[in-house]
Amino acid sequence: MAVTITMPKLGLTMTEGTVSSWSKKAGDPVSEGDVLFVVSTDKLTYEVKAECDGILASVLVAEGDDAPVAAPVAVIAEPGEDPASLAESAPAPAPSKTADKDKPIETTSPAASSIQESDRGGKKVVVIGGGPGGYVCAIKLAQLGASVTVVEKERMGGTCLNWGCIPTKVLVHTAELYHETINGSDLGLIVKDASVDWAALMTRKTGVVDQLVGGVEGLMVANGIDVVYGEASFVSAGSLKIGNDTLEFDAAVVATGSETVTPPIPGVDLPGIVTSKEALSFDSVPKSMTVVGGGVIGMEFACVYATLGTKVTVVEMLDTVLPPIDREISAIARASMEALGVKFHTSSKVTGFTDKGGKIATSVETPDGPISVESEKVLMSVGRKASTASLNLENAGIRHDRGKITVDRFMATSVPGIYAIGDCCSPIQLAHVASAEGEIAAENVMGESKAMDYKTVPSCVYTMPELASVGLTEEEAVKRAHSIKIGRFPLSANGKSLIMKGYDGLIKFVVDDRYDEILGVHIIGPRATDLIVEGALALRLEATVDEVVTTIHAHPTVGEALAEAALAVNGKAIHMPPS
Ligand SMILES: Cc1cc2nc3c(=O)[nH]c(=O)nc-3n(C[C@H](O)[C@H](O)[C@H](O)COP(=O)(O)OP(=O)(O)OC[C@H]3O[C@@H](n4cnc5c(N)ncnc54)[C@H](O)[C@@H]3O)c2cc1C
Repeated sequence: MAVTITMPKLGLTMTEGTVSSWSKKAGDPVSEGDVLFVVSTDKLTYEVKAECDGILASVLVAEGDDAPVAAPVAVIAEPGEDPASLAESAPAPAPSKTADKDKPIETTSPAASSIQESDRGGKKVVVIGGGPGGYVCAIKLAQLGASVTVVEKERMGGTCLNWGCIPTKVLVHTAELYHETINGSDLGLIVKDASVDWAALMTRKTGVVDQLVGGVEGLMVANGIDVVYGEASFVSAGSLKIGNDTLEFDAAVVATGSETVTPPIPGVDLPGIVTSKEALSFDSVPKSMTVVGGGVIGMEFACVYATLGTKVTVVEMLDTVLPPIDREISAIARASMEALGVKFHTSSKVTGFTDKGGKIATSVETPDGPISVESEKVLMSVGRKASTASLNLENAGIRHDRGKITVDRFMATSVPGIYAIGDCCSPIQLAHVASAEGEIAAENVMGESKAMDYKTVPSCVYTMPELASVGLTEEEAVKRAHSIKIGRFPLSANGKSLIMKGYDGLIKFVVDDRYDEILGVHIIGPRATDLIVEGALALRLEATVDEVVTTIHAHPTVGEALAEAALAVNGKAIHMPPS
């Protein structure tokens, strides 16, 4: 049977390739594995090889021409077949795209249609919200020549700087150091009477936050951006009300972030039941704490307080904690947290809270029946919702789904000239996503047509140890019908991790087995949140395993284990016995 050779798909976003050269010509005998032709894409060149022995019966795409992915490029007649008859009945050549090369790319971006080139420079743009989405967007807009006003109802820096990423990580850092110190005897580290000065830690946390907020305020001044403090709400699709003032705009970007969800559980208003905001500023380290919700925020607080001596119990409705994380990685994270003393009730539901005179009793339905967990504090950490209630979105006609603003991939809302970014609209509620969306929105406000790509968004969890991931989990890759290979490298075999006592760590690659393209990278262990950058870059460049393993990784680093995990995809890890 004749074999049709098609244009390979050499990356997730590849739609076509160019046949840059032929190594054989029609009529040549070919053996399996011979290079037939070379494909070039905008990022790589690739040799397409014969899949069988035979005669090259037809060449369907000329040198220099393009062909869409999966289009026929050549036909090989197997031994015994008549190449001439095959050539006649060969599939039609793929339509060459070279003829269309000079055609302009069409775009459906509302940005492109609503903002005229002549508007650049003097465009009056208002950004509502000064978090990592809003302030980054404002700076980008100013760089592009807009006249920018940011409206902020509390403090510049938003949740991230004031009540989120930064203050939590100040606590994480001290908790980690304390943990290392009191468990340092095998490192030759004996510190007598080590303890945490909670008041000093709170002062440091405030100092770090204030310094960063001050930095953002300074950037506003340096970029000529006006900051108006007050709560904004839409009057129309072209004006806002802030207190008694009205602000007219040519374009607006909504970046109002998110707020904690408080489910209507009986007793949820009792004193001592707190959100992440209050959990950053307790008067002292609580003796006991129940964490409702096994997501990222809850698990970070669970680790901090368990390390500082709090008896922590986590209640989660699902059968796993950290649900979006690769299951193998989240199971290791759970075991590490159990080693810190955290107690878990998964597949369990909180049904109510009662006051027990200074303590709170949390009623929980577990798979083994109802239980009551008593603790000094309860941290409600069951998710966050878009913070848009005060905006009067209806006055501007902005479409939303129960408060979450509807946007397209250009970050445009249903109203031309009004964009939304960050937690108030995004599928992923992370600071770096808000900032990336902010830059996209700014460019589109100023007439570009840039689309947001979520494929390479890394997520980091600052538990102990840290974990980080980018791309597809093993479960997602299988669900999307990829035929996959997995490469794993345990950090117990990595020198730097051993030095840092990161024995339980793991690096895992999820790879499409057709071209060894990397689909996902998952890390638990020391420096995971810094190392994931390599995974994000690999996905951004649509890298294959070969490109990671041929990149020389410095020694001794935890990063070396990335190359080993990539090698392990094909059973070739150097520092692991063959399996
Ligand atoms: C405890 C915690 C830890 C976190 N840790 C991390 C982490 O480690 N890494 C990470 O990437 N993400 C983390 N996040 C998530 C991150 O903080 C958010 O994804 C990010 O702040 C969203 O940015 P944003 O600009 O969309 O909104 P926000 O940062 O929430 O900013 C919105 C701003 O808009 C203002 N505003 C709201 N309504 C109005 C109005 N009507 N008028 C004027 N101003 C208004 C608010 O006051 C606020 O300043 C954490 C979140 C929490 C709660």
